[in-house]
Amino acid sequence: MDDVQTVLSGSIGQAVQNARETVWINPLKGRPSAAAAPLTQSDIDDAEARLERFAPLIRRLFPETEEAGGLIESPLVPLDGMKRRLEGDLGAELKGRLFLKMDSDLAVAGSVKARGGIYEVLHHAEDLAISEGLLRPGEPYDRLAGAEARDFFRRYSIEVGSTGNLGLSIGIMGTALGFRVTVHMSADAKPWKKDLLRRHGAAVREYRYDYSEAVRQGRAHSLADPRSYFVDDENSVDLFLGYATAAGRLARQLAEQGVAVDEDHPLFVYIPCGVGGAPGGITFGLSRFFGGNVHCFFAEPVQAPCMLLGMLTGLHERICVQDAGLTGRTRADGLAVGRPSGFVGRQMEPLLAGIFTVDDSRLFEYLRSLRESEGIYIEPSSCAAFQGPARLGVCPETREYIQSSGLRDKMPRATHIVWATGGRLVPPEERERDLQTGL
Ligand SMILES: *Cc1c(COP(=O)(O)O)cnc(C)c1O
Repeated sequence: MDDVQTVLSGSIGQAVQNARETVWINPLKGRPSAAAAPLTQSDIDDAEARLERFAPLIRRLFPETEEAGGLIESPLVPLDGMKRRLEGDLGAELKGRLFLKMDSDLAVAGSVKARGGIYEVLHHAEDLAISEGLLRPGEPYDRLAGAEARDFFRRYSIEVGSTGNLGLSIGIMGTALGFRVTVHMSADAKPWKKDLLRRHGAAVREYRYDYSEAVRQGRAHSLADPRSYFVDDENSVDLFLGYATAAGRLARQLAEQGVAVDEDHPLFVYIPCGVGGAPGGITFGLSRFFGGNVHCFFAEPVQAPCMLLGMLTGLHERICVQDAGLTGRTRADGLAVGRPSGFVGRQMEPLLAGIFTVDDSRLFEYLRSLRESEGIYIEPSSCAAFQGPARLGVCPETREYIQSSGLRDKMPRATHIVWATGGRLVPPEERERDLQTGL
């Protein structure tokens, strides 16, 4: 642990331990991956093909996806008004254009978890249906919406540990197919998310503990039942690949909007990070697509910077925020995670540009600014991502990154994307409370 103490006594380590906002630049970016089993483009292609096979079923189960042909995708919208707000009141120096990737509006689950969570449920359903002879390869998948399939899936259960949104995506999709679903919820989970899950027929187990403990208990509960499948947010390759499919679709949206990403047009992407699966999978996919022309940054709350601690020390899942004297508590409930996914952290070593930390009070400033400038509401966790464009041109560390990556002259042609990870299902009274918080 000597090395770890040395790392933590450096300036970033001190800022982290004192819960001060900071930014860490990843020194391993661009080096060969040390991950045990590096994933490849063909893994993402396989996930995309699976989502296409399931599209007719999704369309039938969720009529809101009719127009998109059963694909769950979100718009990419320009944020010119918010960019002016960032540069005005919020002190940013941001060259280039700013966009919002609105996974906050994704169909079915209303958060980025509609990518990973739903993908994993579908993959599991497919495995069961094929191995038990319910579905022959090549048969149309909308058969799985029928009564026979529901009776079949009712014999199996799916369990998951969640701070809220992952539970919603697994619960809504799982119960729609007929699975029995149990969601193990950490103390941070919002009551409305539990209520919504129960209305969908999922069982909700509530814990007084944090997320890592809810996952541990959920895993143990699921393991005791051979017909139960556990969605393991800390280790799941399926979740990761489901998130990664966002990349190809984003690339198409950028092309449609005439936005270039190449040697002369860098792309910056800012994504809120909890355990790491969602931002990690997206970063992985984008890196396969855009190589060195994409620069992905995560954002974490100052009291729960678990991925930053894991990557900074190299300890990954072997360190938690409490080890650094932090509480893990934050108003960004989706990011209230004390221990990172080691699987994701190792995948991120060669790819991630860096990680910003953000104070809770700032989340609500961003939330109000976005509402006032663009008329858009996203949940507090999502707002963490605005720390990226707010600080990129201001922090010495990121200015140095831009300089040393040879990007300085290219910044006027840069594109910045803030990844909005949740919001659509948040009830009106909760939104109102968020808009008033900290005033
Ligand atoms: C889950 C979630 C995240 C982060 O995803 P992880 O996979 O936990 O890193 C960010 N924002 C919101 C709103 C989420 O629900």
